Amino acid sequence: MKFSDFNLHSDVMQSVDAVGYEKPTPVQELAIPVIMQEKDIIACAQTGTGKTAAYVLPILHIIISDKNRSDSIKALIIAPTRELAVQIDQQMEGFSYFAGVSSIAVYGGGSGTDFEVEKKAIKTGAEVIVATPGRLISHINLGYVDFSQLKILVLDEADRMLDMGFLPDIQKIISHVPPKRQTLMFSATMPGEIRKLARKEMNDPSEINLAVSKPAENVLQAAYLVYDNQKTALLKSLIKGRDLPSVLVFSATKSSVKTLEKELKKLKFNVKAIHSDLEQDERKIVLREFKNREIQILVATDIVSRGIDIDNISLVLNYNVPQDVEDYVHRVGRTARAEKTGIAITFINDREVRNFKNIERFIETDIRKISLPEELGTGPEYDTIPKRNTMHGKFNKNRNPSARNRPKKH
Ligand code: AMP
Repeated sequence: MKFSDFNLHSDVMQSVDAVGYEKPTPVQELAIPVIMQEKDIIACAQTGTGKTAAYVLPILHIIISDKNRSDSIKALIIAPTRELAVQIDQQMEGFSYFAGVSSIAVYGGGSGTDFEVEKKAIKTGAEVIVATPGRLISHINLGYVDFSQLKILVLDEADRMLDMGFLPDIQKIISHVPPKRQTLMFSATMPGEIRKLARKEMNDPSEINLAVSKPAENVLQAAYLVYDNQKTALLKSLIKGRDLPSVLVFSATKSSVKTLEKELKKLKFNVKAIHSDLEQDERKIVLREFKNREIQILVATDIVSRGIDIDNISLVLNYNVPQDVEDYVHRVGRTARAEKTGIAITFINDREVRNFKNIERFIETDIRKISLPEELGTGPEYDTIPKRNTMHGKFNKNRNPSARNRPKKH
């Protein structure tokens, strides 16, 4: 299939050509025609599948094909984090270059001036708003947000928003938009709460299910069994002297991220860290430096594992086993974006074996365990804890581990 088969407006097609996409990804093939028909959709698609363009392109098409187009808010996209909101807005801006659709990203954490800029754009009728829930509600509460002409509502990473406790905010936002509208919901997983929300707020949605609760096939996954005190040496031996221009290291907490940054600096690596203690602007700078390959190693908590749009990461390294299988999938999804190949390595310590087995069961893959380099000695055994096969059926039936039991994200 080609992009030209969609019959998108020529101004949208021009930007697709300019961006250089050659053919649509599977989620784009399925979603774009349905959205262009102005129908509701609920799409199970992970970050990295091209889901943003899957809704941005048809939204732009709908907006510019409207003969009665006026200066008003026509589409509202809600996303869980500032990082994701900024990225969506950037794609929106890129794709609307020829179409001339105005958009604004509305997210918390910025300065007072940012709030004023957002307010002005909202009042003067930006056509598309990309917002995090809390910040949008602050604007709504001030009384000047006019959604009366809104046609399209998008909930992106809906499962994440529910996990983060945004359901009341989302419901409040929905109560401010016209009931007659097109609603598009994107979610990496489909827990019961998401289905409930869809039943309540959507109009006979078409369901698009790419069944992608697994890392992409083109990610080479491997793991080392390693005690905590061997980890830094192992990391060094994996990176030193190799051609790995972009390495993303995930660690569990912001304190462990900070410590690891210090240790790697001592070892003379070109490294920076990103975590929730950094201001929005500082995070942006670090991400930009990493994207531009001015930094070789970025150490991060899970705040960047979702939605961060960085291509060509050579290696994703889980310094610890993620508590949550979905986080594993999202972390690993930072490599091998848009059909490139990538490597993801996980360090498993003696206390994390059971958790890693859960991950393997969930993604239905036995991940290759590599022996430690000889000079590091021996690591823990993998088979000290038997696989709990009885869980297998249960896991497969409910492919979404309980959100209620999730640990707090850092
Ligand atoms: P997303 O899942 O929206 O975060 O997209 C992941 C990455 O894939 C982004 O870097 C997009 O620019 C890229 N991408 C999206 N659609 C395509 C396409 N049809 N061809 C090539 N790259 C794409």
